[in-house]
Formats: sequence, C-alpha cells, structure tokens
Amino acid sequence: MTNKVDAKANIRGLLLEELRELFVELGEPAYRADQVYHWITCKAVLSFDEMTNLPKTLRSKLDSIFSISLPEVVEIISDSEGTTKFALKLDDGEVIEMVLIPERDHFTLCVSTQVGCAMGCKFCLTARTGFRRNLEVNEIISQVVLAKRFLLSKGEILPLRNLVFMGMGEPLANYSNLIKALKILEDKRGFNFSRKRLTVSTVGLVDKIYNLAQDFPTALAISLHAPNDRLRQQLIPVAKKYPLEILLEAIKRFPRIKNGRTTIEYILIKNVNDSKIQAEELCKILRGLPVKVNLIPFNPHPELPFERPDAEKVREFQRVLLEHGILTTVRKSKGIEISAGCGQLRRRILESSSFPNATYCETTAWASPLS
Ligand code: SAH
Repeated sequence: MTNKVDAKANIRGLLLEELRELFVELGEPAYRADQVYHWITCKAVLSFDEMTNLPKTLRSKLDSIFSISLPEVVEIISDSEGTTKFALKLDDGEVIEMVLIPERDHFTLCVSTQVGCAMGCKFCLTARTGFRRNLEVNEIISQVVLAKRFLLSKGEILPLRNLVFMGMGEPLANYSNLIKALKILEDKRGFNFSRKRLTVSTVGLVDKIYNLAQDFPTALAISLHAPNDRLRQQLIPVAKKYPLEILLEAIKRFPRIKNGRTTIEYILIKNVNDSKIQAEELCKILRGLPVKVNLIPFNPHPELPFERPDAEKVREFQRVLLEHGILTTVRKSKGIEISAGCGQLRRRILESSSFPNATYCETTAWASPLS
C-alpha cells in the first residue's frame, strides 16, 4: 500500500473551469489551463514535460503542484476477437478492471466506477469480492486515457466512441464522482463524447435515477433481470428497497436523449428467469414504456450457482418479446474466454508473480510517453 500522506491532487479529475480558476490563482493566464486540458484529454499525455507549447518553468511548476499519474497497467489480455481486458493498479494498491471492445466502426470501453461492489447481486462475480471504495474522478477518467493510449499505440484508426459504465461497481452509488466524470468526458474542448454514447447502467437505485435525470441525463440501462418483485428481490438484494412499480415509473419519466430508449438488461439464467411465462410477464410490465430489451445469456463461473440456458431457450424468450412488439436484442457475450464478460470482473489482490513478464513488457511499451 502506498497511501501518500500529502498526495497532490490529480489534474485529470478537474473540470476545465476548475483548472482555469486554479491557474488564475497561481498567477497564470487562463488560456494556459486550456492548453493543459487539451494535452491531458485529446492528446492523452503522461507527463507535463510533453506539453511542448508550455514554458519549461510552468511545466515544472505544474509538476510540483499536481499529480498527472495514471494507474499502472499490470495485466492485459485479449481474446481471439480483440476484446481486451486491462487490470489497473491504483495508487493505494487496489486493482480494478476495464474492458475494451471492438465494434464494427468504433471501440466501446466498459468502465469501472468502484473497487468491488456493495449491491450483492447473486449472479455477479464482482459482488462476491465485496466493496472496497468508490473510484475518484481521476481514476474514472484515467481508464479512458489509458484506452486511448492503447489504441494510439496500436495504430488503430477506429475511434473510441462509446463508454458504458458497466464495469465493476454500481455507478449511481458513486454519484457525485460519476457526474463530474461525465461532465469532463462530454466537454467538447476535451474528450468530446456525445451524451448518447455515454451509457450508465444501474441496478435500479430509483432516487439516484431521478437525480441523474436532473443533473446529467445520459443513455440509461437498467439491470432488471426479473419480471416480478419476488424473483427480483431474490437475485438483487437492493431491489427490496425499490419495488418494480416505482422503478418502472422512474424509467417512464427519464428524459429521452434524441428519442433514445432506455435499455432493459435481462440476464437469462437457466430455470430461474428464462421461461416462456416469465417472458410474457416481462412483456406485461414493459408494455408502453420507451425501452428496448437486451438479453444477456448468463456468463457462468465455478463460484456462481447458476447456468446459462441453451441457445434455443434464449431465442424462444426473444421471440415472445418480439411478438409483443418489444425491440429485443441478444447480447453477444464478448470476452468470456478472458473473464471479461458482463459480471466477470472482480477485485483482485495483486501478486506480482501472477503477471507474466511478456504481458508486462508489452504494457510498458505503450504506457510510457509516446514519441
Ligand atoms: N451495477 C451496474 C453495472 C455493472 S453490471 C448494474 O447493475 O447495471 C453490468 C451488467 O452485467 C449488468 O446488467 C449486470 O447485471 C450484468 N451481469 C452481472 N453478472 C453477470 C453474469 N454472470 N452474466 C451476465 N451478465 C452479468
């Protein structure tokens, strides 16, 4: 553990407005803050020294005031289709994971928001490792920076265009840091992500969904996973606090960005929630709501007491929903071979011996300043 006593504030966790104010307080013109912001967002640099349009004295002044460090990439694994999972070591030694997924014309990054998770969902591996702490704003942003650097180092021409907050943790349980990170990510003068391409996935913390609707309405995904309260509460303990009726009402009222629909995520678990009757029950509760359903065949793991239904069962469930006029897709599970699928991310205790040198070397090649 390297818990620094007088740790410098990490510059990646600041809004441009905050940076400008700080620069003025430091006796520097505000436009210098804009230059720095450009370097840390668009250029994804690692150090102040790379900011070549800044006077050397300012670069060293900034270096003495701010931290600009990124988490250390301690492991990278790719599967045969190019989905890549990264393990990142934070300043205090905790390890989180993020997953970079290639799509037809862009990349999607699955971002973590907490170390571990406190929600305790019965089908999710992250839950089994318990909750350690919220991620700081800079730790959320750093995942995007690292993904950008990785793509740059590979000479990828396709852009990182979508961010899904579906990694480790419950995003809405780290609310204020999430909102600030979203604001930084959307800022046109920096990362410039389109709001409809920022998807927040939640287990259904209703009061926070209303807050999000007010503060920063993004694309929304709800982990529903059951068509009635009884089953939902068995699978998702926190659902006892938020019955379906009030959750569905919150979905109905959530602002629709560019006429987008809220995604209903529904894991299909063999003999638990995958019957035809349950599909019909689901249609009933979703009738008239501005939603689309994404079915996620359960990703099994030896530590989890559930199984994945066979493909025919999945198709049958989908068919029922489609027949009721509900837009329904089946999530093609990516990254399962490398344990990077939904619900397969977990907090780990880092043992250096568990990371082979070959992987580590490749890591340092792109995590050091790009020439
Ligand atoms: N806490 C947030 C985001 C993280 S989970 C949420 O609950 O939405 C991201 C998605 O993966 C959720 O829909 C979650 O329910 C799903 N998931 C969890 N465990 C899974 C598993 N074993 N197989 C398939 N999907 C899983």
